[in-house]
Amino acid sequence: MKAWANIDIPLKTYTVHLDHDLCQYVTEMKQRTELGWKKQQGSGNWNLFRSKEEALDIYDISYKEKLTLIECSNCR
Ligand SMILES: [Zn+2]
Repeated sequence: MKAWANIDIPLKTYTVHLDHDLCQYVTEMKQRTELGWKKQQGSGNWNLFRSKEEALDIYDISYKEKLTLIECSNCR
């Protein structure tokens, strides 16, 4: 299953979600994207990965020093 990482710069968090419809955060993000919401510059981003393992690897490589890792409780 694919996975998402929600990078929140103000909160300094890197939250890992799975790409399924059981998570309200993922479904809300997709609905907003379909409605044409523009990404808020500087405040964060959603990145798509091939797997949860890949999302965790990227955290270790690029974000470990800067952001706190959270695993979404809906997506475990
Ligand atoms: Zn989630």
